[in-house]
Amino acid sequence: MNRLPFNLWFILLAAILIAWAFSLTSNQQPTNQVAYTTFLNEIDQGRVAKIAVDGRQLNVTRREDSDQYVTYAPSPIDTTTIREWGDKKIQVEIAAPRRDNPLLGFLIPLLLIGLLVAIFFFFSRNRGPSGDNAFSFTKSRAKVLTEAPKTNFKDVAGCEEAKEELKEIVEFLKAPARFHEMGARIPKGVLLVGPPGSGKTHIARAVAGEAKVPFIAASGSDFVEMFVGVGAARVRDLFETAKRHAPCIIFIDEIDAVGRRRGGGVGGGNDEREQTLNQLLVELDGFEKETSIIIMAATNRPDVLDPALLRPGRFDRQVAIDAPDVKGREQILKIHAKGKPLAEDVDLALLAKRTPGFVGADLENLLNEAALLAARDSRKKITMKDLEEAADRVIMGPAKKSMVITQKDREVTAYHEAGHALAAHFLEHADNVHKVTIVPRGRAMGFMMPSRQDTLHWSKKRLTDQIAVALAGRAAEELVFDDVTTGAENDFRQATDLARRMITEWGMHPDFGTVAYQVREDTYLGGYDTRQYSEDTAKRIDEAVQKLLKEQHDKVLHLLTEKRDVLERVTQALLERETLNAEEFVRVVEGEALESLEPPSEPPKDKEEKEPPRIVPKIKPNLGGA
Ligand code: ADP
Ligand code: ZN
Repeated sequence: MNRLPFNLWFILLAAILIAWAFSLTSNQQPTNQVAYTTFLNEIDQGRVAKIAVDGRQLNVTRREDSDQYVTYAPSPIDTTTIREWGDKKIQVEIAAPRRDNPLLGFLIPLLLIGLLVAIFFFFSRNRGPSGDNAFSFTKSRAKVLTEAPKTNFKDVAGCEEAKEELKEIVEFLKAPARFHEMGARIPKGVLLVGPPGSGKTHIARAVAGEAKVPFIAASGSDFVEMFVGVGAARVRDLFETAKRHAPCIIFIDEIDAVGRRRGGGVGGGNDEREQTLNQLLVELDGFEKETSIIIMAATNRPDVLDPALLRPGRFDRQVAIDAPDVKGREQILKIHAKGKPLAEDVDLALLAKRTPGFVGADLENLLNEAALLAARDSRKKITMKDLEEAADRVIMGPAKKSMVITQKDREVTAYHEAGHALAAHFLEHADNVHKVTIVPRGRAMGFMMPSRQDTLHWSKKRLTDQIAVALAGRAAEELVFDDVTTGAENDFRQATDLARRMITEWGMHPDFGTVAYQVREDTYLGGYDTRQYSEDTAKRIDEAVQKLLKEQHDKVLHLLTEKRDVLERVTQALLERETLNAEEFVRVVEGEALESLEPPSEPPKDKEEKEPPRIVPKIKPNLGGA
């Protein structure tokens, strides 16, 4: 594959052509030049046989050895001189007059440069019906699998919700005509959101495999080039290719490489990237209704994407592919353990428990490392010891992409999230718990998702409890540990923002009345606040915010102290299960024993082992390569 960047090729080509042009217009250098005086001497001595006159250039042939040389006359040769030479029996030839045009020396390079520009435009704009270009630089680097991939949903463990959501797409790709006849609008763009290695590519391929359609994969970074127009041309090519293979799936990995929010015309944008993104938008919009192409794109930073990409009719469907929880990890291990001989003592459920924070790619890697270890010792089977050693390596190894969580981190996170969840559950006006998890997502170590009722109006009581819920994570940490962590930064921001707005925007504080102290301006540059109050009021607002936050903090701290036993139960359940849905959470709160919950896979073997031994990274030099 020709990986020299396009612009380098272009410069090289230009240099060669220009050099050639100049060599054309300049005179060839004579090979053998002799001084004019020497030439005069030779004439006097009768050694010259022949002179070919070409303007002031004289090509001279000697009499004795027919040697040739060149010399230059100080002035054009006149007829008298020629007659003199004739008298000396020198043969004189006069070259045909040259149609020398001084413009020509200019024109030829100019024409060539014009030609170059034309060639460039031809290749960057080329949209032949087949999309086939003679050069590969405007071709997308997409990998086209014309046959449907062998992967299917059975090969994807965990991510049940994601699979459920993607089933509709599979149905559509299997029989697009059925959907078109009904006039149904199928989402064209699906955005898979999740950390690296969590299986976004894997699940996209499985969708193609299930539907038995071609899978055309490209990466966002393929479209990022220095040269304006190339990325856009590649996008065009990608879609041309897809149209030839429809129904099919286009998969664009790392879409944030091209899809980043465009600079709002401030400070000058990146022209190339903007053109590429625009082209992508054009292609997304440009599908005719009958086209049966689904575009799936992957990112772990949906927040940096250009809002235009997420509009209806584009990537309007988002599917979360999170890091797997303990159950998911066990299933992934099972899938990748197929075809690997495991010893009797291997307990994949236990291994899953010991690998919090591992994503699918890590687990696959872990099994492979273990197989390598066993093979190196010429053993026939992979033992639990190999697997543990391999887990160590994956943690220690430099290739580790995702977050690895220590047991201490897990505990802190579990108490913290349990705190949020308890506050949400017990406070009268707070939204109930929808889901609580200690599986990290984005930059959050875990999260509690409330079941939001969509109301247009938020009451003061609900907002106040909302603040309390936000502060409950830290409160739980305070209660349990004699130290606190940085994990509550976002909670504080949220609580403070709510408190401040209750006072300054929503007139919810008796001391401040119903005055709009702060006006939120929404402009094309984003929102900003304009302050409409005095320094004195500012001070009073700050104090009121502090007081409100303190009250709510004390309220939840009191609540959690009272419900300490529930806090412990929920925390233990979280450490065990990593994720609790609404129903499971309520059951734990109401004191149902953990064992009565549906066990993750097989019942835990030994009950003493509440806290399985963790793999704690040892402080030792990295032996990954040894
Ligand atoms: P991403 O695209 O999210 O970075 P990949 O799809 O490339 O991650 O995942 C890398 C590998 O990890 C896949 O080839 C697959 O073998 C394995 N893997 C990841 N997630 C899963 C999963 N849920 N089930 C089975 N294998 C998985
Ligand atoms: Zn929190």
